[in-house]
Amino acid sequence: MSAHDFTFSDWRQRRGALKPEGRAFIDGDYRPAVSGETFQRRSPIDGTPLALVARCAGPDIDAAVAAARAAFERGIWRDLEPRQRKATLLRLAALIREHLESLALLEAAEVGKPIRDALNVDVPACADAIAWYAECVDKIYDEIAPTGPKDRALIRRTPLGVVGAITPWNYPLIIAAWKIAPALAMGNSVVLKPAEQSSLASLVLGRLAKEAGLPDGVFNVVPGLGEEAGAALAAHPDVDLVAFTGSTEVGARVMAAAASSNLKRVALELGGKSPQIVMPDCPDLDAAASAVAWGVYYNAGETCHAGTRLLVHRTIADDFHQRVEAHTRSIRIGHPLDPETQFGALIEPQHRDRVLDYIALGRREGGRLAFGGEAMAVTAEGAYVAPTLLTDLAPNARVAREEIFGPVLVSIPFETEAEAIAIANGSDYGLAASVWTADMDRAHRMSEALRAGTVWINTYDQSSLATPFGGFRRSGFGRDRSLHALEKYADLKTVWTHFN
Ligand code: NAD
Repeated sequence: MSAHDFTFSDWRQRRGALKPEGRAFIDGDYRPAVSGETFQRRSPIDGTPLALVARCAGPDIDAAVAAARAAFERGIWRDLEPRQRKATLLRLAALIREHLESLALLEAAEVGKPIRDALNVDVPACADAIAWYAECVDKIYDEIAPTGPKDRALIRRTPLGVVGAITPWNYPLIIAAWKIAPALAMGNSVVLKPAEQSSLASLVLGRLAKEAGLPDGVFNVVPGLGEEAGAALAAHPDVDLVAFTGSTEVGARVMAAAASSNLKRVALELGGKSPQIVMPDCPDLDAAASAVAWGVYYNAGETCHAGTRLLVHRTIADDFHQRVEAHTRSIRIGHPLDPETQFGALIEPQHRDRVLDYIALGRREGGRLAFGGEAMAVTAEGAYVAPTLLTDLAPNARVAREEIFGPVLVSIPFETEAEAIAIANGSDYGLAASVWTADMDRAHRMSEALRAGTVWINTYDQSSLATPFGGFRRSGFGRDRSLHALEKYADLKTVWTHFN
């Protein structure tokens, strides 16, 4: 029987039997925090205790960075032939696929996302990213510069050394893979610090990497609190790059720590408040309404590029809101371990309360509650908020500007194309945007004018490993995915020979 055939009761039973590893994975072995301290991770599905996780801090980060540095200097990974590094990473991808069921269950249990998404999206996408970068390893050529006939200038890509990866909790395995895979592909060593809410599936990657044949010390996973383990990694004097995904506020702290420690490089994938613009000539209002509903409510709205701002032409706004509501009603809300569920829990009860506070604020700011707006009692102790639409908001309302990171769509009416662009760009963020129109001249004109790392035309959330992902402005800089992501994990070295 495959994991796709498991019933709700199978998954619940399996979750009851979970014994997740909560210790750090450093230099090829699991070990407790140097302090011996742990913290309890509870499932946001229903508050069940899941595991005691090592509360790592400075000394653990020191040990992981030292192991990573030693492995790098010994050349046990970076000096392998490219085809050997490729084969190891392909084995890792295959092992992740073999452990689909247990990884999906851990991820669903620790972050509250539907098991069907963990099974169909998160774990396969993690394996795919590792395989994609594995396939790049022996296909990337260095360069020879155009010099005179008696000179030969080679432009070589060399790995940076030790890469720190700090990841958020919304797509723990996917985002970890987007960083680990290109970093390892280029020959670096890695120290991964997962979010405190979602360390457990990431910790399994340590064991699988070892099983795949990655030499000890090359890949380490150090769980812990952001302000302890995360801050220690960002400020570590022997880390060459921190690749960070998380909030804009913490990204700024990471950048400051990098600047004041050793001027390490930083790559920041941060927050968003992405607009979906629906013009009156939208070719298919139902397709647009469905994409708007899924674009904001998928993963319970906990997606950095969620289309959280609906900019809809005033003449079609009421009709369009009704269509969005109809599509939202078809989303199956429920217990995340029920394979039918499409919309599960938020990450923790405090976050649920924060989202509810934002909804109350939006109403005080003049927003009309079209639907949703309340907590849901899917389980007694869980963190659930109904998909919510607030309409008739002014573009400068706080709920229309700040990242809520929950299932809250705010709708802002507009009258002209220029006004739509001005509202869309009137944001601190610039991660993604979409335009729905039948006029391709308009579509391309608007896509040029929109300040966002990705602009979709008559679609939303289409993606591929072959396209770069990241933002403009306070959504950060540096790109995950695509060949471009490899650039940030390498230094260019010129080797010049003059001969007679
Ligand atoms: P967060 O910023 O609170 O935490 C992210 C990571 O940083 C965690 O591992 C955390 O432990 C660590 N951290 C916290 N304080 C730190 C410090 N002082 N120094 C170093 N590390 C520290 O974000 P979150 O709540 O985990 O995730 C949600 C945020 O992530 C949202 O803003 C979302 O938009 C963003 N996000 C962005 C992308 C993207 O690709 N642009 C993708 C997913 C999530």
